[in-house]
Amino acid sequence: MNDKSRDNAHSGRETDIAQGMHFIDDVTGAVMPPIHPATTFARDADNALINEAHSYTRDQNPTYVVAEQMLARLEGAADARLFASGMAAATAVFRALNPGDGVVIPAVMYWGLRNWLIEFCEQWGLVLTQFDATQPDALRVAVVSAKPRLVWIETPTNPTWDIIDIEWAAQCAHDHGALLAVDSTVATPVHTQPLALGADIVMHSATKALNGHSDVLAGALACSDADNTLWQRIVKERGESGALPGPFEAWLLQRGMRTLFLRVQRASATALMLAEQLQGHPAVAAVHYPGLASHPGHAVATRQMDGGYSSMLSIEIVGGAQAALRVSGALNLFSRATSLGGVESLVEHRASIEGPDSPIPANLLRLSVGIERPEDLLADLRQALERAEA
Ligand code: PLP
Repeated sequence: MNDKSRDNAHSGRETDIAQGMHFIDDVTGAVMPPIHPATTFARDADNALINEAHSYTRDQNPTYVVAEQMLARLEGAADARLFASGMAAATAVFRALNPGDGVVIPAVMYWGLRNWLIEFCEQWGLVLTQFDATQPDALRVAVVSAKPRLVWIETPTNPTWDIIDIEWAAQCAHDHGALLAVDSTVATPVHTQPLALGADIVMHSATKALNGHSDVLAGALACSDADNTLWQRIVKERGESGALPGPFEAWLLQRGMRTLFLRVQRASATALMLAEQLQGHPAVAAVHYPGLASHPGHAVATRQMDGGYSSMLSIEIVGGAQAALRVSGALNLFSRATSLGGVESLVEHRASIEGPDSPIPANLLRLSVGIERPEDLLADLRQALERAEA
């Protein structure tokens, strides 16, 4: 960090992030950080590293440091680390556990990680317990019986947007000697800061809203206690596996994060408007969005989410899977593509992607709302629902 960033110790998160932690290059005065493509860093004539923080990019690179300082600021974290993808970040947490350790997860969560976990826990000897996040006491019951080392939650959970109370989950985990990790990809640090609510580790697919432009694959972990044994193993695991983005991706990520607050606030406001407008539409059987008063997690979401309820919503279409696919096919402005959190709106029929064992309703369409003109998105959804009905 340079001198200017220390002068601004009392500015707010939005200001710090917009200014990339007040970065000014000490050598040139540049207001944007350079990209350091170097994989290796030199030593002086006495064999001491010229900069002790940098010897080899698999351990650390100055371009990662800029993005990591922003991530730590966003999450109020003691430490934050970049990874090559969200999956690289999440799997680093589980690889740092010991065979025999217990893990508790929600039955509905990001399916790619859930599928990986089911196989990995069997191979690595971790004891996996799943709980139904829609049942009020299910998490506590699972923790009491499984006595896990780690509780992993996601909130809102992808793609049904169930809400898990982070404060309560942290209390359940801590009362029974477990750590709590939260996949906060969908909530984003704009709306939720899991560490402040008691979580120990927070994870992001930075591929999504943190970068926000669907052009970087990256992940992040942040922690409340950098001396924790599990965290130290995670950092070691990252350095040994080299599960890191390239410096160019890390640079793009810090640039994307500068507009995080603007993008997320706009997209979440539009998502709420769309959810309200689509509720009650004759072709829509259900709208899943925690910002709606009718959502079972609304009260908890209102308590733990600040300034919005995320850019993600799902709609169930009257008439089943075929009707849902017709609506998706009739959309003009929502691109039919996987992923979320970009400036452009996307639609996805999750059941087709997840296959026959998917717990997701066959008539569900997941919408990732971007920053386009809200009225255009609403008009597109209305015309697609009408065409599919006809
Ligand atoms: N967590 C959530 C909630 C996700 O939606 C995704 C990807 O869709 C991931 C984790 C995995 O992230 P990545 O694709 O960056 O590996």
